[in-house]
Amino acid sequence: MSGQDLNLKALFLGPKSENKDVFGKHLTRLFEDHSEWRKNYHPEDMPIIKNTDKRDENFLGTSDKLEEVLTELSVKLRSKSLPWHSPRFLGHMNSETLMPALLGYFAAMLYNGNNVAYESSPGTSEMEEEVGLDFAKLMGYEDGIGWGHICADGSIANLEGLWYARNIASLPLAMKEVTPELVEGKTEWELLNMPTKEILDLVESVPDKLDDLKENSARGCGKKIEKLGKWFVPQTKHYSWLKAADIIGLGTENVEAVKVNEQYRMDTEVLEARIRELAAEGIPTLGVVGVVGSTEEGAVDDIHKIIEVRDRLAKEGIHFYVHVDAAYGGYARAIFLDENFKFIEKDQVKKTYLENGVFENEATADAWPSDDTYYAFKAISEAETVTIDPHKMGYIPYSAGGIVIKDTRMRDSISYFATYVFEKGMDIPALLGAFMLEGSKAGATAASVWAAHRTLPLNVTGYGKLIGASIEGAFNLYNHFNGKSFMVGDKKVVMHTLIRPDFNMVDYTFNEEGNTDLAKMNHLTHRMYEEASFVHGGLYDNDFITSHTDFAVPDYGDSPFPFVKSCGMDRAQWDKEEKVTVLRACVLSPFIGNTATFNEYMEKVDVAIQKKLNKIYDLR
Ligand SMILES: *Cc1c(COP(=O)(O)O)cnc(C)c1O
Repeated sequence: MSGQDLNLKALFLGPKSENKDVFGKHLTRLFEDHSEWRKNYHPEDMPIIKNTDKRDENFLGTSDKLEEVLTELSVKLRSKSLPWHSPRFLGHMNSETLMPALLGYFAAMLYNGNNVAYESSPGTSEMEEEVGLDFAKLMGYEDGIGWGHICADGSIANLEGLWYARNIASLPLAMKEVTPELVEGKTEWELLNMPTKEILDLVESVPDKLDDLKENSARGCGKKIEKLGKWFVPQTKHYSWLKAADIIGLGTENVEAVKVNEQYRMDTEVLEARIRELAAEGIPTLGVVGVVGSTEEGAVDDIHKIIEVRDRLAKEGIHFYVHVDAAYGGYARAIFLDENFKFIEKDQVKKTYLENGVFENEATADAWPSDDTYYAFKAISEAETVTIDPHKMGYIPYSAGGIVIKDTRMRDSISYFATYVFEKGMDIPALLGAFMLEGSKAGATAASVWAAHRTLPLNVTGYGKLIGASIEGAFNLYNHFNGKSFMVGDKKVVMHTLIRPDFNMVDYTFNEEGNTDLAKMNHLTHRMYEEASFVHGGLYDNDFITSHTDFAVPDYGDSPFPFVKSCGMDRAQWDKEEKVTVLRACVLSPFIGNTATFNEYMEKVDVAIQKKLNKIYDLR
């Protein structure tokens, strides 16, 4: 199969419900199947709801009530939902979701499996096991060794990542108490700087001591947590890391943000210097988070450089755990895998994209990926754990997050067995609940992700093509917005873009030509946000919708200054305001990679922006 065989237009309902008939056909069929399935279980059992029941006055009244409530529900949904299906919506990480995912969810919801345990959901538990292995393959983890599962969202996956890191890093301290012979002669510093694989090998060598070791690790003994050291994140971190450090007991004060460079990627030189500085003070580094697709900028940290730092420091006896937060960008690794799931050689990338129709325009294949982005995605396979959100770039309906681990043995560090749902040692797919934070969870989510993965393989012939459409759309938008200007009365208003996209996000500001007052630029950009959101602009009938964010000193330090400067402000302005307001377009639409469609919609977006500017300047 080649990417050329795949037509994305067959996989979405469409902005105008163009695929309504197909969707309706499958929806009905899946419901019919379910309804027959109910009847076929013991056909000798007689119906309980009889025709006489259905003629009962209260039955009829109750049915009317049901209809009224559903009507009201539909009214609320239609009047108070965001029109993310339209290419006029260029804001939050929200867009069309895949038909296989929606239909898979709907069908499985009727069967209502609970994936906490195999016995309550054999079908959907098997699907989740398969999806977890898909994730492991996507990340380049070794076949049969890597593993993953679905969870509620990226925040939970990040929490679980830190949970793994904390428990594993504390196991050597537990060994010192429980099995001292395993770590004979090692100093506390050495115990706190052991590579994950070495720890897992040691644990595996004493299977009958596993429970004791777990008891005495950080999960059983809070006092060990304070020895583990720092957890590094880039300044662009998602705020879930603070929640995670809080709950895991590490404390938010042990989360340190590393400065980002002008491309909003973690500065790995600063990282390395800081880890050395701490080591000199005797403070270990528990782990480093690299972000692949930052929430506000879509920036891709140089994961390969983080791995280089790790490997370099390992030679000096300093070790840290690596978690890749690819909640947003994780699915994009598919664009780098060929049809046999091999990471495509650098010199074959462009050719492969053109052969598979990943990009329509050769110019996009010239512009993306940058060398750094290529090597960053490649190096994800070196991390211990990865967060990936199907409900973001997987085009799956909420709520679907995921976590992937490099080595299945890591699971032992976080496992709990509730005897009422699991028999320890049971060897069937996924005693899932034993190995994750959550308990009961929808089998429907697993079915949804499974159906999408089976329709679109996680390589360049499937998801890669969908991701490619989104990246091409982002480059179209970046080229369109970058430096674009509007005349408003006698004033010229210019759009400034933040960075050339590492992925598929375009951040931008509006500034009056010649203005050097940062507060004024922030105000204008914020006014545009108000008009281009439901705050002032209305919701469903708004002509153009976007989202906004602030880059402010408490999170970002002075990292945004170079951008602010490029918009015409000096340092004094930055020091005075300490924040820049930007608008943010996550370009998820699978349709605006196409030049004709893009141009058709941009004409309308330009008119909408002009109209909004006129309103802001009160020239309506
Ligand atoms: C969205 C996001 C998260 C959190 O994911 P949720 O699914 O919203 O909980 C974490 N990290 C990054 C980089 C994200 O973009």
